[in-house]
Amino acid sequence: MTVSRILTMKGRAVVTVAPEQTLHEVALLLSTKGIGAVVVSSGVSQVLGIISERDLVHAIAEKGAVALDDMVALHMTERVVTATEKTTINSLMQHMTSGRFRHVPVVEEGSLVGLVSIGDVVKHRLEEFEAEQRALKDYIATA
Ligand code: AMP
Repeated sequence: MTVSRILTMKGRAVVTVAPEQTLHEVALLLSTKGIGAVVVSSGVSQVLGIISERDLVHAIAEKGAVALDDMVALHMTERVVTATEKTTINSLMQHMTSGRFRHVPVVEEGSLVGLVSIGDVVKHRLEEFEAEQRALKDYIATA
């Protein structure tokens, strides 16, 4: 099973911010959209970084509320681990576990085409387990 299956189910829209925007703007986006991270992009689908709720917490813990006026570029992670549509869900889960992050942007030919969160992966795995259980029950009932 690949990333493409998850994107087909959840959609390909990704919330992005520019590196010059402020942490306060990011906090507003995360809160209103009910998400945990935004991709930092130049506006031409190029991934420049990622900033998550964890980065906001670190910045505020370190500098206090004034950190909310800082630019995204100061606090984003620049070395972003990305996936392609062909990346398997297993490999995605391994990357998330070993890298200790919960969001992976999906990039095709240098362009951002989606984002998969740990929540999407868990939802997908649960649906797979339920389908397997149904198939097993049907098999037992008809055997
Ligand atoms: P998260 O678990 O996604 O809230 O992120 C935890 C930390 O990892 C934060 O510092 C993020 O900026 C960073 N991060 C999130 N996603 C990625 C990713 N795909 N590649 C590299 N770093 C990431």
